[in-house]
Amino acid sequence: MNANESDDLIACHECDALFHKRALPRRTSAKCPRCGSLLYRSISSNLDKISAMTLAALFTFLIAQGFPIVELEANGLTSETTLIGAILALWNEQMEIMAVLVFCSTILFPLCELVALLYVLLPLRSGYVPPGFNAILRGIQLVRPWGMIEVFMLGVLVTLVKMVSIARVIPEAALFAFGALTLMFAVVVSFDPRALWDIAARLGPRGSKRVTTTARQKS
Ligand SMILES: [Zn+2]
Repeated sequence: MNANESDDLIACHECDALFHKRALPRRTSAKCPRCGSLLYRSISSNLDKISAMTLAALFTFLIAQGFPIVELEANGLTSETTLIGAILALWNEQMEIMAVLVFCSTILFPLCELVALLYVLLPLRSGYVPPGFNAILRGIQLVRPWGMIEVFMLGVLVTLVKMVSIARVIPEAALFAFGALTLMFAVVVSFDPRALWDIAARLGPRGSKRVTTTARQKS
């Protein structure tokens, strides 16, 4: 078997059966005939969808971080805070480990994932592979399990429900932004970064689309 042949092979993640990979029509997927699990999806339509969703998620992320989450009103006193304000409050209350954990899981890792995804997605859409492509994709897979915006959202909602009895709770812009972000992340996370490796392999090493096209025409 030569290198080109092995590039075309894909193994089923459930039952280890080996198949030859074929280009799929838009909006279709290939399933393992032996166990029925998903092998891969068509990538062209996915790439546009996921680029748009990642960009939208990044803007929503900035809104969620920049605006207050809720305003609390009790005995004539009002107070409101942003997520970073809450993290600083944790830090000042001598809960440094908690503050670092919240910072990493709700700000740092989700932001890293979004920026890294855009860094690889936008050049791939334009037809070239960005420098450090492999390392960035591995990084995305590494930080992905540590982004926990949905856990944070659940915690905020539970707290709000509990606080309704002792204070007037007014939801602010960031709360809605976090709600939207939870849904957007569900879509972004459903995207398999392995598909990007396939696109990069098709485009060829950091050269350009043109090189690959001529190679194809010759063969
Ligand atoms: Zn299988």
